[in-house]
Amino acid sequence: MRTPQRCRDAAQRSIWVFYKVDNMISEIEKDFYRISLRMPYRLRHVNAYLFVYDKELLLFDTGLNVSGSYETLEKDLTNAGLNINNIKHVFLTHTHTDHCSMAGFLQKDTGAKIYLSNAASEDYEHTRQPDLTIKQVRKFYARHGMSGRQIDLIIEEYKYIQNIITEFNTDCYLHNHEVFEFGDWKFEVIFTPGHAAGHVCFFFREKGFLLAGDHILPFIAPILSPDIFDDSFYPLKTYLGSLDAIGELPISTIYPGHGNPFVDLNERIAEIQKHHQKRKNNVLDRVNSKPKTTYDISHEMITSSVSDFDKFLILNETLIYLKELKAEGVISEDTTNNVLVYTAI
Ligand SMILES: [Zn+2]
Repeated sequence: MRTPQRCRDAAQRSIWVFYKVDNMISEIEKDFYRISLRMPYRLRHVNAYLFVYDKELLLFDTGLNVSGSYETLEKDLTNAGLNINNIKHVFLTHTHTDHCSMAGFLQKDTGAKIYLSNAASEDYEHTRQPDLTIKQVRKFYARHGMSGRQIDLIIEEYKYIQNIITEFNTDCYLHNHEVFEFGDWKFEVIFTPGHAAGHVCFFFREKGFLLAGDHILPFIAPILSPDIFDDSFYPLKTYLGSLDAIGELPISTIYPGHGNPFVDLNERIAEIQKHHQKRKNNVLDRVNSKPKTTYDISHEMITSSVSDFDKFLILNETLIYLKELKAEGVISEDTTNNVLVYTAI
């Protein structure tokens, strides 16, 4: 048995659920596949992509490691006439659980080489140092006004994530604009920090394909979160810069980490830019002469009943907008009893 028998439903943090793993594999063009892997979260599926080179298979992201997912991937590949043991290269867009957590199994079972960016590797290494990370989580979120109980819930979630990411060694660190060639398959690494500091996309210039991971999605704006170890990281500014970077590429089709492939990249970029501007203005509207913590403001942003996990996501979102607003010089940040508070200027 590869994984725990139970998995945690991220949409409803207090419920442990059983579910059936049921993947789908489809051939996009000859020897190039999309594998849609089931997961128990609200997004329901995560996409991995795969192409065949000679007798070897190259996999882009691995899907989520929950009970049965490895075996289902194996079965899906067999049904498509492919053999999981031929996966010899695994390229990761980033090291969020749903994209990388089976990498260790693949490395162990098939001898696959693992490729990722340096910054993604640093993120991954934090999952191997739980005590250090938990200490930092407590310190970081307490400074943003969260109570001990609320922080305990985050830590519980973190422990779950840490538990399902299989251990692997990085074989190759990716560089921005580095080009890989496997026979007729040629693709370029595009650094796209923002959704995660170490996020990359893979651009198949001749074909106009972008394997986008979570950098751009067809139906939601990708989640942005702070780097609790690096205060110099500005998620929103960095993310918007990375959107501009892909907007300049001659991309015809985007193959996202979640949802269906889509076209009209620049239209989607404009929608996401607008979304963030609107949300940032909403945060600014709530900052006034009364000193408020990030938690206070995020609480005001919640207009309906949401799960604890969603509250946490809203807090992170509020936090990154406050960080931007402070950098823009329109709000001020002070410290009271080791907690950050914000007021309008
Ligand atoms: Zn992600």
